[in-house]
Amino acid sequence: QRAEWALLKNADSVSQDGKAFTIGANIGTPKDVEAVTANGGDAVGLMRSEFLYMDSQELPTEEDQFEAYKAVVSKMNGKQVVVRTMDIGGDKKLPYLPLPEEMNPFLGYRAIRISLDRQEIFRTQLRALLRASHFGKLAIMFPMIATVAEFKQAKAIFEEEKAKLVEQGTPVADDIEVGMMMEIPAAAMIADKLAKYADFFSIGTNDLIQYSFAADRGNEHVSYLYQPYNPSLLRLIKRTIDCAHAKGKWVGMCGEMAGDQVAVPLLMGMGLDEFSMSATSILQTRSLMKTLDTQQLTGLVDRALDAEGNEEVKQIVEDFTAVLN
Ligand code: PEP
Ligand code: MG
Repeated sequence: QRAEWALLKNADSVSQDGKAFTIGANIGTPKDVEAVTANGGDAVGLMRSEFLYMDSQELPTEEDQFEAYKAVVSKMNGKQVVVRTMDIGGDKKLPYLPLPEEMNPFLGYRAIRISLDRQEIFRTQLRALLRASHFGKLAIMFPMIATVAEFKQAKAIFEEEKAKLVEQGTPVADDIEVGMMMEIPAAAMIADKLAKYADFFSIGTNDLIQYSFAADRGNEHVSYLYQPYNPSLLRLIKRTIDCAHAKGKWVGMCGEMAGDQVAVPLLMGMGLDEFSMSATSILQTRSLMKTLDTQQLTGLVDRALDAEGNEEVKQIVEDFTAVLN
C-alpha cells in the first residue's frame, strides 16, 4: 500500500469525479518543509509560529522571524503557506513571557487575546510576516477568534503595519489573504458574519472539539468525549463551510481530523477545500480521495448529520467505504 501511495507524490489531489482539493501539511519550523516536499504536499495549511517562540530564549526578533518565514515560503516555491500568528497560552508556555496563573488556561489569556493585549509582540510578528510575503505565497491567520470585533481589531493592526511598511518602500505582497482559525463554537455560529471580513477559515478541530464538548483535549478521564464524528461537531463544520462558500471564501481544516480516514469522506462531501495534516498522512489521504465520488458523498453527509452519535456516524462511513473497496 505504501508503495502505491508513493506513486501519488506528484499527482493532483482530486476525487474520483475530478473535483480538486488541496492537501497541505502542518509544520512548526522551517526545517519541517523537507517532509512536506518529500510527501508531495500541495501547501502548508498551518505553520504553528509559536514554535519559533518556544525554541528561543527570548522573544524572537523581527529579523529572526522574517528569516524563518522567508525560508518557508521560498522553499515552498510558490505554493501557499498559511502562517498562524502566535498561539501561546493554554498548554504552551514561554519561560521569558510570564503569564498570569489561571484556573482554566484553555479558557484564559491565550493566542489572539494576548496578541491584542501585548500589541508590540503582535506588531513585530506581523511586520516579519509582511516582509516575508514578498518571497512567496504567504497567508496569515489569527488563532482563537471568538468574535467579529476581535477579527476586525486584529485585521486593522495588520493593515496599519502594512501601510507603514509600504510607506517606507519595503516590498510587501499586495494580495496577502488574512483569515482566521475556526476553533470556538461561538465563532462557528456566526460564521456568516465572520465570512464578511475573513478571507478564509481554517477549522481547528483539536480545540473546536474540546470547546464543543467541554472536555479538556489532554485529559484522559474525559477522552471519550473527543468525538470528531458526532453530528453536533459535524453540524458546526458544515455551517462554517456553507457560510464561507456563500461569501465566496475558502475553508481549510488543520486539526487532527483533517487527516482522519473516516472523516475525510464526510469533509469532502461537505465541500471542505483544503485538508492540512501531518506530512506523513498526505499520500494516504490523496489515495483515499481518488476512490471517492463527491456526488455520492452528499447522501453520506446527510445520513451522518442526521445520526445520533459518534459511533453511529463512524459505522455509516465504514459501511460506505467498505463497499468501495
Ligand atoms: C486545533 O486547535 O485544531 C489546531 C490546529 O491548533 P492547535 O492544535 O495548535 O491548538
Ligand atoms: Mg487550536
